[in-house]
Amino acid sequence: NISLEQHDPEMFNLIENEKNRQWKCLELIASENFTSRAVMDCLGSALTNKYAEGIPNARYYGGNEVIDKIETLCQTRALKAYGLNPEEWGVNVQPYSGSPANFAVYTALLRPHDRIMGLDLPSGGHLTHGFYTYSKAENTRKAVSATSVYFESLPYRVHPQTGLIDFDKLAESAALFKPALIVCGGSAYPRDWDYASFRKIADDNGTLLMCDMAHYSGLVATQEHASPFEYCDVVTTTTHKSLRGPRAGMIFYRKDARSFENKINQAVFPALQGGPHEHQIAAIATQLKEVMTPEFKQYAKQVKANCRALAKALVEYGYVLSTGGTDNHLLLWDLRPAGITGSKMEKLCDEACITLNKNSVLGDRSAVTPGGVRVGTPALTSRGFKEADFITVAGFLHRAVQLCIEIQKTSGKKIVDFNNALHSHAGVKTLRADVN
Ligand code: PLP
Repeated sequence: NISLEQHDPEMFNLIENEKNRQWKCLELIASENFTSRAVMDCLGSALTNKYAEGIPNARYYGGNEVIDKIETLCQTRALKAYGLNPEEWGVNVQPYSGSPANFAVYTALLRPHDRIMGLDLPSGGHLTHGFYTYSKAENTRKAVSATSVYFESLPYRVHPQTGLIDFDKLAESAALFKPALIVCGGSAYPRDWDYASFRKIADDNGTLLMCDMAHYSGLVATQEHASPFEYCDVVTTTTHKSLRGPRAGMIFYRKDARSFENKINQAVFPALQGGPHEHQIAAIATQLKEVMTPEFKQYAKQVKANCRALAKALVEYGYVLSTGGTDNHLLLWDLRPAGITGSKMEKLCDEACITLNKNSVLGDRSAVTPGGVRVGTPALTSRGFKEADFITVAGFLHRAVQLCIEIQKTSGKKIVDFNNALHSHAGVKTLRADVN
């Protein structure tokens, strides 16, 4: 019964340092959030000690009477939170996280080398939706995630002018490629999703339709974003982004003659995972209780209002945003017109205690030095930020861009020289002090 502080002060201090960093800095990573004390209590509970391979009431280990109740409660709340009829929809709450959830769907419903179409990474998709890098020199493509290793992927893109999903091109490519599965949903798409158009293209080609709503599942649960459930066969999500729960994943599937339930349950276990992490599952359940409250609905509204306020302020400073703005919790900021890369902006912001991430924007050649950054509002909204606070944040970000331009002028374009110059720069130190 020795506390972490007594048992391992080195680790205790590292965790304290990270906690301080999270509280002191401006957390603008669109996929991160601050989960509650109740969720943390579940994660640090006795449930971490238990093996429970199988599904509720059909386990490969004894001693699962309480665990069965916990996992069933989580399933019931998950369906309720999204307004789903348990006769029509089921849910598997065991995926360890979002990537395993997606791969479990592919394992369940596809055969190796079947064809997938998902949104391309530079268009705002996720690696697990199938992505290749291309080597011009070798004239080859390289599979990056297991999705493109084990399945044939033809990513679709956003329109080069509007930044919106190019449905005409998607329809054209799908008619030729005849994918077994189309994936909608993404990681850096700042607008709502037109599921009816995806459904039409899927139906025209006899294709399954999966939505990965990981980023905006908190907005869907509160009806602040369109719901994918009416149109999709399967919906996956993480639980730690706008949903504000523990780091984990869920898979929702239609219950019909296609036997998705058995296939998905078996893909999660035994095909890909072992014992489910019941401490995570209890934490998802507890978060779903919160998600169904009026307070969480208000939170989701505020996340969007804050993002709109931030977008408007940045546009007023003269900056370019993909699609010109946002409908959700994130914006994608094209820094190429300002003459700097997303990598430099990320580095400078890190130094100034502002946390965001570099992100590809349409037309980028390299995912390593992309031309933009992605900025999200879920985390700071959890800390009580309102629109006026985000106008202040926009001011800090504007100063960061100006500093990037100034430092680049003196240090040259090389990132190493830029990083070195940045550490000792008085303007960056002042910005950090103001942020803190
Ligand atoms: N799907 C989407 C749309 C994501 O944005 C992410 C992560 O950012 C994932 C899946 C993967 O989730 P995880 O990092 O939990 O594996």
